Amino acid sequence: MTGKPKISDAKNLCPRTAAVHHGTRRSQYGEMSEAIFMTQGFVYDSAEQAEARFIESGSDEFIYARYGNPTSRMFEERLAALEGTEDAFATASGMAAVNGALFSMCAPGDHVVAARALFGSCIYVLDLLAKFGVEITYVDGTDLSQWASAIRDGTKAVFFESVSNPGLEVTDMQAVARLAHDAGAMVVVDNVFATPVFSRAVELGADVVVYSATKHIDGGGRALAGAICGSRDYIRNTVEPYLKHTGGAISPFHSWIMLNGLTTMDLRVRAQAESADRIARAMQGNPYLSRVVYPGLDDHPQHALAMQQMGAGGTMIALEIAGGKDAAFAALNRLRVIKISNNLGDAKSIVTHPATTTHQRLPDEVKAQLGISPGLLRLSIGLEDPSDLIADLEQALAG
Ligand SMILES: *Cc1c(COP(=O)(O)O)cnc(C)c1O
Repeated sequence: MTGKPKISDAKNLCPRTAAVHHGTRRSQYGEMSEAIFMTQGFVYDSAEQAEARFIESGSDEFIYARYGNPTSRMFEERLAALEGTEDAFATASGMAAVNGALFSMCAPGDHVVAARALFGSCIYVLDLLAKFGVEITYVDGTDLSQWASAIRDGTKAVFFESVSNPGLEVTDMQAVARLAHDAGAMVVVDNVFATPVFSRAVELGADVVVYSATKHIDGGGRALAGAICGSRDYIRNTVEPYLKHTGGAISPFHSWIMLNGLTTMDLRVRAQAESADRIARAMQGNPYLSRVVYPGLDDHPQHALAMQQMGAGGTMIALEIAGGKDAAFAALNRLRVIKISNNLGDAKSIVTHPATTTHQRLPDEVKAQLGISPGLLRLSIGLEDPSDLIADLEQALAG
């Protein structure tokens, strides 16, 4: 059991137990597996009951699936228990979660400070906020002095990835949260790479934790989903009104997939991180690589911080091939087990060439700033035997 704070009835359960049981709502049939309530609406006993529910609905009362659904509620409560927040709101995708978390809290004239090293679509959302009159200041997420000078009295929020995509930079959450809270700002963390398994984000000061559940929570690359975790007041009074009227709702079927994903997530992610650690060490000293970036290695610039924040190096590795784009493409094309794709957190190991795919549209100088060189590969380690993955990488690099 980790030291994460837990809410209400999950308080006495270890995370793995909560991940199996917490939030389960059984119907009158007492079904064992969580039911999929594949319904958009709910029948009221009377006109008076409908009226009352629109004024205020109880925790087991639903109106319309865009507002909430019993299967989705199970997923929200289970994830909130694991994250250590009072509540959560599930969304159609990780980007619906990022959009919902930020747009619901910001108004024209507000100021947001964000780390520069962000997933491309997150930058799009920040650009959109800027278009509607929100001032955005970008900083190097690993440089506390830049955070300190950018955050000012009245800054609305800070936003960063706890571990960045694809450079695997680690942000000092506790230090940034202290600076943000001193100025009255909310701390919003995109915690996808850290995963809920290795997350201590709330303990370290995050007010809002955002996930793309498409990644490690699903774990099988099947469905898109996302979630926003935070205080009950923020989720119900800020996020819910925004999302229920703008339509970022998750499908009950996807909530059911994610509930099943959460059940096995701890075992999967720990096994994937153990493999990643072994693979990163095996790649060190490979003559065809100019850089092996893994937060679990001693030579990672934020290694100590990563260990303190996550207790592990995670499931992602970045490798830089010495020969640039041509050598990188040749190696990709020789891989037999590891698949070329752009998801991550999947049971299948996946390799991505960020410079020509996920981060293709960034200007060259920004790519250079973020370490997205033509030879950089992003590896998401899956559940295969790590010795097969090491052999696959070695033959692909040597070829
Ligand atoms: C994938 C990803 C997202 C977006 O999630 P989707 O489910 O694809 O919408 C956001 N942030 C990070 C860090 C991601 O890796």
